[in-house]
Amino acid sequence: MALKALDIYKLLPKKNCKECGDPTCLTFAMKLAGGKADVDLCPYLDDAAKALLGASTRPPIRLIRIGFGERLVKVGEENVLYRHEKTFYHPPGILFSVDDTMPVEEIAAVTRRVRDETLTRVGSDLRFNGIAIENRSGSPEVFGRAVAAVEGEQAHLPPVLIAKDPAAFAAGLVHCGTYRPLLHAATAENFNGMCALAKKHGCPLVIQSETIEGLVRLAKECAQEGVQDLVLDPKPASLGDFLIRSTEIRQLAITRTIPELGYPVYLDTASTGQPDAAIALGITKYASVIVTRPLTPGSAKAALTLRQNIYTDPQKPIQMTPGLYRVGSPDKNAPVLMTVNFSLTFFTLQGYLESSRIPCFMLIVDTEGLSVLTAVAAGKLSEMLVRDSIKKFGVENEVTHRKMIIPGYASPLSGRIEDATGWKVLVGPRDAAEIGDYLHEEWKKEQGAGSPPE
Ligand code: SF4
Repeated sequence: MALKALDIYKLLPKKNCKECGDPTCLTFAMKLAGGKADVDLCPYLDDAAKALLGASTRPPIRLIRIGFGERLVKVGEENVLYRHEKTFYHPPGILFSVDDTMPVEEIAAVTRRVRDETLTRVGSDLRFNGIAIENRSGSPEVFGRAVAAVEGEQAHLPPVLIAKDPAAFAAGLVHCGTYRPLLHAATAENFNGMCALAKKHGCPLVIQSETIEGLVRLAKECAQEGVQDLVLDPKPASLGDFLIRSTEIRQLAITRTIPELGYPVYLDTASTGQPDAAIALGITKYASVIVTRPLTPGSAKAALTLRQNIYTDPQKPIQMTPGLYRVGSPDKNAPVLMTVNFSLTFFTLQGYLESSRIPCFMLIVDTEGLSVLTAVAAGKLSEMLVRDSIKKFGVENEVTHRKMIIPGYASPLSGRIEDATGWKVLVGPRDAAEIGDYLHEEWKKEQGAGSPPE
């Protein structure tokens, strides 16, 4: 059973020496209680306390690192079954699959795609994570050439090496340097050899079994062999199989009912017979490493967007830094549009403003990431905040007029903002999609006859 922070504190040495990286033993205890620190960080704990604390404070699902450097993928360390209970921490790595019967040019092209393709959405750059290379030819030499084709692109992407023959792994690992590829897979038949390989090269290892009992047995055996960086492949034959097994694994792991299942889960979408649907299911229902054939542009965008949405902390909206932003090259007559610092609001409005081709200023005020409607209802968007933001971001130095367009949903504040700021307040549309027409018509009227400011 999980210990509370004060129970943990009682077992700590209480030296407040800071060597664990925390200012006091109590803050370290609080981190341990939240599964956010490792007992090994305190050098003064005796073995008995370590044993007691270790079992109850380590995250129920082990953190596994695949690869190295900037494109390193971290998976695991999850604590909950449902995102609304707290949050999900580490988005699944999505890797494109190639096999060694493909021409090396094609393998290199897939690698370049994963290396270079980026989808920018609400201020974040979204990318796929790596390449899974399968030894389908059966030849170690051919496999080695395929791995070399990936590594030759200098992509520094985390690889997954998929093979059955230890000689093939050896031929592939030669080209991986220090990149800690994920090795797929240890089974009941070959786990001794695979553990030896994983230990020798410092790689995480996938263990594969169609049954929960088989995975538990393999996890125990690999731990006895000294390999603890494991990923579980429940070898699903259908989407239903995966859903049932991954949910069971997650439940048994986070409740610590079967600690041997406390590892991230692997999904090869091709094995389910419905690869596109499997990606969506894997993202939402507990896959941490997802291997898929290279996706079409539409499916790629959908997968990256879904992953971003599911792995955005629901308690912390994605926020923009408050400030004065320019759209185009606004002059002293340009309109000033005030709105909140919820990223989705910002980027949606910015997109429509760019389409309107009217250069302007966006005054972004700090509502702690709340949307306009919520911020008004919660009292986070107020006339004082707008007044202070005008001063703080020097808006009066940028324009000669004193007119501000506020979002339609903030209309109840219009009078109070006018009184607090001395600016004339114009109430804009509720729907950002209408802002272009609004500027061309209403702002034009405000400016008098003639063209809107360019
Ligand atoms: S290292 Fe140990 S004794 Fe020192 S502050 Fe941290 S928990 Fe306390």
